Amino acid sequence: MPSIADIAASKDEEDRLVYAQDASGLEGKTLTVVWPANAAEVQSIVKNALESRTDIVPRGGGTDLAGAAVPDNSIVLDLTRMNKIIEIGSDYAIVEPGIVLDDLNRELAKKDLFLPVIPSSHSVCTIGGMISCNAAGVRAIKYGKMREWVSELTVVTGNGDIISVSGKQLDDFCGTEGTAGIITRARLRLAKPLKRYTASVYKLGTAQELAERTREAVKNDNVIAVEYMDKLTCKLSGDEDAYKLFIEYESDEGDIKDPAEIEKRMHNRNIIGQTLSSKGYIVIEDPRIPHEKIPEFLEYLSGKQIPSFGHIGIGVIHARLKTDQDLEGFHEMVQSLGGDVSGEHGIGLTKRKYASSDMKNKIAGLKKKYDPENILNRGKIIDYETR
Ligand SMILES: Cc1cc2nc3c(=O)[nH]c(=O)nc-3n(C[C@H](O)[C@H](O)[C@H](O)COP(=O)(O)OP(=O)(O)OC[C@H]3O[C@@H](n4cnc5c(N)ncnc54)[C@H](O)[C@@H]3O)c2cc1C
Repeated sequence: MPSIADIAASKDEEDRLVYAQDASGLEGKTLTVVWPANAAEVQSIVKNALESRTDIVPRGGGTDLAGAAVPDNSIVLDLTRMNKIIEIGSDYAIVEPGIVLDDLNRELAKKDLFLPVIPSSHSVCTIGGMISCNAAGVRAIKYGKMREWVSELTVVTGNGDIISVSGKQLDDFCGTEGTAGIITRARLRLAKPLKRYTASVYKLGTAQELAERTREAVKNDNVIAVEYMDKLTCKLSGDEDAYKLFIEYESDEGDIKDPAEIEKRMHNRNIIGQTLSSKGYIVIEDPRIPHEKIPEFLEYLSGKQIPSFGHIGIGVIHARLKTDQDLEGFHEMVQSLGGDVSGEHGIGLTKRKYASSDMKNKIAGLKKKYDPENILNRGKIIDYETR
């Protein structure tokens, strides 16, 4: 096993500060930053942390919006040096966890392949982070979430064991936000790039009309993305006073045929979050709401002056609140409608209070199995007491 002294690390104040935050804006405290080069080095770091009972926060691109990559007097284990593509096959790739999604897709494009789960953070987020958050992209109607594209993982557990997992056991590490193990290698399924796609934009007057148009769209097998902006988001973006629905088709059905124009509109959609942040809406929520309850939820948001947009086709509503708006009331509403607290960004720290007991029990069970000393991402999703 490599000696801990030989592994790249820093205790410099600048490095500790840089790694004290993720994209949630929360700030914690970094003890040390380490940049392992391989699974054996990750294992050494874990064994060392077990001896000193120090918390480890695995980190990829740091784009987490729920504080899941924020340290609490922790070792931050930056996996971005482990960014190699090990193998590309006819319909799969084996990669290290620190590779950035766009870098991987650029290489795959040379072989007419791609990984089709594309979060808006695609230029920065890593495969390890995407698996750990079970990320989704705008085309989730067609391609689902990251879990569906993972067929095998190599993981260093909180016990310091290196294990290989597949099948049902993948659920222990996909979407569990680095609380059970550190992913050091992934075998991914791949798709063929879309050959043709078109899109249409619809303007709708009410939340009811928006929901009805969405319900119709998701019944169409050619529809691959259904995105919306509510009236307040349109207004804050300098757009018309209407609900806007963007539907993408894997056929000629849409009015917009030029792929460059579609990409431009996608890009504009991807920067809505920044526009809302710049106007003070910095509390980021992403509940998943049952389709039949969406009009009621959108009317509630509109009444409270909470702007929203998102993947309405899969029920994921990106709502943005100001810090003085009623977050408790928001979550009570989500619960009363039978919604999930997070449709894609995860629980981390910011949504821990609202996580379901099923999710908390799952993480507590995984801690017993893989990380009984609770040294991995302590305090994320569940409280600290497990230790
Ligand atoms: C502008 C913006 C847009 C976004 N859009 C989307 C979107 O469309 N869809 C979506 O799903 N999400 C989105 N996100 C959230 C986030 O980008 C994704 O969840 C992404 O998958 C996180 O990847 P990352 O490499 O940045 O992970 P990090 O932020 O570094 O980490 C995320 C979590 O994974 C853990 N982790 C990281 N690497 C590993 C590893 N190798 N082993 C074990 N645990 C690990 C961390 O400890 C943390 O819990 C967005 C974020 C931003 C800032």
